[in-house]
Amino acid sequence: MNLILLGPPGAGKGTQARRLEDTRGLVQLSTGDMLRAMVAEGGPLGQQAKEIMAAGKLMPDELMVEIIGERISKPDVANGFILDGFPRTVAQAESLDAMLADKGLKLHHVIEMRVVDEVLVERVTGRYTCAKCGKGYHDLFEKPKVEGVCDSCGGTEFKRRADDNAETVTTRLSQYHQQTAPILPYYQDHGVLKMVDGMADIDEVSRQIEAILA
Ligand code: AMP
Repeated sequence: MNLILLGPPGAGKGTQARRLEDTRGLVQLSTGDMLRAMVAEGGPLGQQAKEIMAAGKLMPDELMVEIIGERISKPDVANGFILDGFPRTVAQAESLDAMLADKGLKLHHVIEMRVVDEVLVERVTGRYTCAKCGKGYHDLFEKPKVEGVCDSCGGTEFKRRADDNAETVTTRLSQYHQQTAPILPYYQDHGVLKMVDGMADIDEVSRQIEAILA
């Protein structure tokens, strides 16, 4: 099964994608993670990505289409994938359609995770992850049971994304409304758009997603 999780920064796309990896054996394809790996590697493209991400702006469509095109050609994707962070523009959505048609693949569901802007800034600025296993935490809503120790793996190092600050989040949100939200009617017209209440707690959102996939 091939899915897109669509929603603003902080909607819970990454959290739900990781759950779907565990429960359904799908592969999470996060363009944000791919870009962060490029930044970590250095090089001119990594430097460009670093600057654009820090500003909360979007990377050029052609580059993102190329990155996802390469990834989607790898054999592990054949069992099904969850796109997280792609497509982010109508042009990317159109390219994705062409790419999938080319490979004989189908998009089964596009799931919009709806959350109001007011809570997103608080969610995003407070979040962090275990540096070892990637489990997500939040300063207010989900602290480790023992302070400074990851519940899942016992790791003691945590990290925050450079772009999860109040100023950048505001720009990322306006980019979402201007550039990404127009994808919703696009997928509505294609008959694949579903919606879940991203304001609900994490387990309830998972239940709503499972009900769509059932
Ligand atoms: P994310 O981890 O999905 O929140 O993405 C972090 C940042 O990476 C975004 O704010 C953009 O700067 C960039 N980015 C990720 N995916 C895309 C995409 N599909 N198109 C353009 N820029 C992207």
